[in-house]
Amino acid sequence: MDFHKQCLYVVATPIGNLGDFSSRAVEVLRRVDLIAVEDTRHSGRLLQHFAIKTPMQALHEHNERKLAASLLQNIEEGRTLALISDAGTPLLSDPGYHLVRLAREKGIRVIPLPGACAAVTALSAAGLPTDHFRFDGFLSAKSGARRQQLEALKQETLTLVFYESPHRIKETLSDMQAILGSQRQAVLARELTKTFETIRSGTLAELSQWVAEDANQRKGEIVLLVQGAPAADPDDLDPEAERVLKILLQELPLKQAATLAAEITGVRKKKLYARGLELKQAGD
Ligand code: SAM
Repeated sequence: MDFHKQCLYVVATPIGNLGDFSSRAVEVLRRVDLIAVEDTRHSGRLLQHFAIKTPMQALHEHNERKLAASLLQNIEEGRTLALISDAGTPLLSDPGYHLVRLAREKGIRVIPLPGACAAVTALSAAGLPTDHFRFDGFLSAKSGARRQQLEALKQETLTLVFYESPHRIKETLSDMQAILGSQRQAVLARELTKTFETIRSGTLAELSQWVAEDANQRKGEIVLLVQGAPAADPDDLDPEAERVLKILLQELPLKQAATLAAEITGVRKKKLYARGLELKQAGD
């Protein structure tokens, strides 16, 4: 196996099933001089299981900015470092961003070791479009802020991927139902790679009801995926132009209304005329 000295390895760890830890990851963690971990007790158990005896240094969201420079100094002095988080890929809703950014600014080589990531694992089995998706991590724990975030995502056409705490899943699903619409398709992926792995598809209304009725679905770790909003039809009229056209149609013949609406809104006359015709035929 290639092993590089004087660099920062960013190593993904399993999200549940220890069988998902690669032999390369284990080897690298055995050979580096120091491993930056989120929680020494948590990662201590993982390292012990794989007989990795490398010293650890705690690096979490509260001390990362302060410690990044001194950790990287180790590398500048000739040592080799690895970064892991409690589970999955570091930096993905986990610490590491400041360390990696500073390492790159200093010209230190950063070598990623790929592995589990709950968001990508969930996407690979959800059956929702994956050609484009948007990862938003955790929504706010506060209901008002969470609702605002969802309002901002209402028209997003990409598949939406969230991490959610089991304590908030019921409230989040009900907020989603209210804001994104009860018929929007979604997938709840729980306890991935673990004994009680559950991946359920349904509308937001169906998933909401299922989670409310079955307390087991409010336990463990959860990725929530929501289908994007339907893309706007390029032939659809902008709502303001539609409003102006409707007002003018109440007083003027179609051709004149379309001409005037085009002048007011800047939308093409032909498009306004076509929409006006539709409205007239529908008796609107
Ligand atoms: N860095 C990690 C990754 O690559 O997935 C994510 C860390 S984030 C602090 C932890 C969240 O990830 C959990 O609250 C849950 O939403 C999601 N998660 C982690 N493991 C999971 C699993 N086995 N099944 C479902 N979701 C999981």
